[in-house]
Amino acid sequence: MHRTIKQVIQARRQTEGGGFQVRRPLPAPGVRYIDPILMIDEMGPVDYLPGEAIGAPDHPHRGFETVTYMLAGEFEHRDSAGHAGRLQPGDVQWMTAGRGVMHSEMPSARIMEEGGRVHGFQIWINLPSRLKMTEPRYQEVAASQIPEAVSKDGLARVRVIAGEALGVSARIDTHTPIIYQHWMLQPGATVDQPLAADCNALLYVFSGELVAAGKPLLDGEMGVLGQGDRVNLSVPETAPATTQLLLLGGVPLGEPVLQHGPFVMNTRQEIDQAIQDYQQGRMGAIRQG
Ligand code: MN
Repeated sequence: MHRTIKQVIQARRQTEGGGFQVRRPLPAPGVRYIDPILMIDEMGPVDYLPGEAIGAPDHPHRGFETVTYMLAGEFEHRDSAGHAGRLQPGDVQWMTAGRGVMHSEMPSARIMEEGGRVHGFQIWINLPSRLKMTEPRYQEVAASQIPEAVSKDGLARVRVIAGEALGVSARIDTHTPIIYQHWMLQPGATVDQPLAADCNALLYVFSGELVAAGKPLLDGEMGVLGQGDRVNLSVPETAPATTQLLLLGGVPLGEPVLQHGPFVMNTRQEIDQAIQDYQQGRMGAIRQG
């Protein structure tokens, strides 16, 4: 059975962290999350002048995962467990915050000095109760290591960050079944993509125009998919350019979601504990250098 679009949500422009601009389709008014996807932030695209670039200085997370996917520009990150690295276009960082990390996510020194374009995504994915206090884990995958596939007619291309598409499987390990795919569809492309029936799923168009399940979906629109085991995606032959979208989803956890800023737990007591642990320095500190 093909999935239909049961709701269309317009991304809203917001200012996050130290002041960077995002387009945010989730959460939205009346839609706190699409279990297990908690938040979708499209960072930019923004063109910084020298000295203008902004990031998210030291802050904590507990109880979920943050997935950063760069499309343009560079981010440098550093955390309380001693991890540090640089994300370049096409790279993915899948961070399991688990019991807690303190980290910073900043444009690279080069972008800070010279300016330039920054564009990417940060998605928050919930963890089940049994894994909220797991050890923090990082999976950093360079652009060249993200599996890609192209349709037989060459009109559809997909980068498979999580899940499976066009016969290709992701290499990133996820704690629960997750779908995370970046599709690039040329005018005239048509794709019939299988989706496990037990997964919630959504589409977020961030460039061009899409027809999904027979309905138009425009730049900056998220389509929440109904039930079924596949979805049809196409781009009209008359479209002026390549359409880009994320296909996201996962098996719902079906647990209570209590969020307080950067902490996402199951109970009020666990949130209070997270705040206390953070205030007392039990999520660590970032070593400079
Ligand atoms: Mn963060």
